[in-house]
Amino acid sequence: MLENVLIGEIPWTTYHERVRGGGTVVLLPVGALEQHGPHLPMNCDVVIPAGIAEGVARRIGGLVAPPIAYGYKSQPKSGGGNHFPGTTSLDAMTLILMIRDVIKEFARHGVRKLAVMIGHYENTMFAVEGIDLALRDLRADGIHDMKIVRADYWDFTSEDTIRRVWTEGFPGWATEHAGVMETSVMLHLHPHLVDMTKVPLHPPAKFPAYDVYPVNPDWVPSSGALCSAKVATAEKGALFVNEYIHNIAHAFAKEFGVPLSEDLVTAAQ
Ligand SMILES: [Zn+2]
Repeated sequence: MLENVLIGEIPWTTYHERVRGGGTVVLLPVGALEQHGPHLPMNCDVVIPAGIAEGVARRIGGLVAPPIAYGYKSQPKSGGGNHFPGTTSLDAMTLILMIRDVIKEFARHGVRKLAVMIGHYENTMFAVEGIDLALRDLRADGIHDMKIVRADYWDFTSEDTIRRVWTEGFPGWATEHAGVMETSVMLHLHPHLVDMTKVPLHPPAKFPAYDVYPVNPDWVPSSGALCSAKVATAEKGALFVNEYIHNIAHAFAKEFGVPLSEDLVTAAQ
């Protein structure tokens, strides 16, 4: 039986034992509640980094914190925009302070190795700010040995995987919103949440080189997806997820100086 690596599902006593020495890596997924087209659920940006974090935690003896399930405002060119019903976002200040506060709490428990796992493109720089403010506060409190890594999982995709998945050319990560990668990964991790009969078939969205505020909803396909996920499959999803877990576990083991174990989840590689 696999050990439970989810912080929210273990007693405080077990958690305390694991983190008090500072050697255990805590992984914090930071997602969003955001529309992902008519074929995907709105929690993709939460459950994808959380699923990857779980696989990584198993390989590096880490623990996964409950994800931050809301994120910064969806942008038309990367997430469709905040005009879609369902997309529910935080002001940047709120997100920054949530991330800062949670990191400082983990530090208070003894955690000294922490990874922020971004699942929603728009969160990235606000997570950086939350990390920076937390480290500044911790230094003022006399804590100087906290190390934090921030990772956007899609950056761990190899050129080889991109060539294998997008045989007609890679459109870029921005228009991949609710596209081939996210849909494939969801078909692998949570197939019951995907309805392939509802996949939009429209061409990829095209945007001007600038942004306009308030946003113009006419720029965005009414489906909410920025391209078509019609070639998404669970097999491609397994390819992505195994690669992300493998590459991120290797990167974190190196950065945090913790042992790495190969495990059943990715044994098929
Ligand atoms: Zn997404």
